Amino acid sequence: MITGTQQTHIETDYEVVIGLEVHSQLLTKSKMFCSCSTDYANDAPNTHVCPVCMGMPGVLPVINRKAVAYTIMTALALNCSIPEYSKFDRKNYFYPDLMKGYQISQYDIPLSRNGYLTVEHDGQTRKIGITRVHLEEDTARLLHHEGYSLIDINRSGTPLMEIVSEPDMRSPEEARLYMQKLREILVYLGVSSGRMEEGSLRCDANISIRPRGQQALGVKTEIKNMNSFRSVERALEYEAQRQIEMARAGKPIYQETRGWVETRGITVSQRSKEQAHDYRYFPEPDLPPLIISRAWVEELRMQLPELPDARRARYSSEYGLSMQDANVLTEDKALGDYFEQVMAASQVSDRKARAKATSNWLLSEVVRLLKANNITIQACPITPAALANLLDLLDKERITGKQAKEVLDEAFTTGEMPEAIVTRKGIKPPISDQGELVRIIEGVIANNAKIANDYRGGKTNALQALVGQVMKQTRGQARADIVQKLLKEKLGETP
Ligand SMILES: [Zn+2]
Repeated sequence: MITGTQQTHIETDYEVVIGLEVHSQLLTKSKMFCSCSTDYANDAPNTHVCPVCMGMPGVLPVINRKAVAYTIMTALALNCSIPEYSKFDRKNYFYPDLMKGYQISQYDIPLSRNGYLTVEHDGQTRKIGITRVHLEEDTARLLHHEGYSLIDINRSGTPLMEIVSEPDMRSPEEARLYMQKLREILVYLGVSSGRMEEGSLRCDANISIRPRGQQALGVKTEIKNMNSFRSVERALEYEAQRQIEMARAGKPIYQETRGWVETRGITVSQRSKEQAHDYRYFPEPDLPPLIISRAWVEELRMQLPELPDARRARYSSEYGLSMQDANVLTEDKALGDYFEQVMAASQVSDRKARAKATSNWLLSEVVRLLKANNITIQACPITPAALANLLDLLDKERITGKQAKEVLDEAFTTGEMPEAIVTRKGIKPPISDQGELVRIIEGVIANNAKIANDYRGGKTNALQALVGQVMKQTRGQARADIVQKLLKEKLGETP
């Protein structure tokens, strides 16, 4: 058992070195080497299959052009270089979920090399090297039951992109941040669903430790079965501590594959790690090598959308949003898209004020309604135009903030435009006539003499009771901040 003090001591003595191998299924319509549909998630097992993805002898694979394009786009977004020539190779191993007894992958000439991505960590920008982004095919899926296992071939042959990082991460937290950043980029590119919980995005980690100051890398272990960002960080924290304890006890660390057991919070040894030569790689004889024209690479580069970092910077410069708001709005691409659509529907002169109001209403009230109803922003019944309309009504002081929340709730239920709701429900404009409001306030003070005296005697929270009375009498048509201000003024006067 390691105590807090020991842990601090150990962490100053040892440095943790982490590299990640991330696999992402690509959002193509058909599989990597056949025309079977990849849209099998809700279908019965073994219904999206053909002789090619079932690994029958004598069939010929055909390369999915879109999968190659998506891989090159990802590589460009990760600042990689794209060679003019690439090829596929056979990776040979025997496992029940591998239909052919080999996987078509890429070995020595992948589609891209030498990129990087940056993560913000402890106020610093850290550059994490990307070794390569390459393309391969997914395996079938085994479903284990008591005493027997079943196989579902639907997944077999789904395009699978692998993104290999350099061992540049120095803490489990940094590994999680890298993984989150990478997921954001893949989702922005539209090449991946980014769903770790469904296994369409997966992460394996290589981790080792070394005495601080030592250049040579320690013996690494490979950690598998982490299916959330949280489990990536937890598994690596556990494994780093395990290796440090072994080193301190003078015990050897073996190169092996270890599985993360979420329920127990530990990693367990699965098998000794294969070396590359165990796979007997050789060029895939059934596929032609790929000549990647510079014109095509440039065409794909032109198709790259605005990426999360650029969007974040723009939200700060163009809209004047705080970094925190810009972060939240861009983390989820769909939320950022919605924000932009509200701005596009807003015909206002003060763009920054409208951006701030949009961000506030979106991140508080709209997100609250989405969470309460367990739906995504894409399915939100309030259209961007409707939210812009609500903000227009607020700007024109046609409704109060309190009324606006009620109108928003109604719009969420009916899908109507806020203006139509205001008309239909006969919502009156806020009392703008101060004279009338002052008369109501004087009446409330006169009828609640005891509470008013309590306030004058120093019970400041008595004011809320009086505000409540005024709001009730004005049926919510007065602005709470103005009511408070006028009440304080009136109570300050001697009766
Ligand atoms: Zn097929």
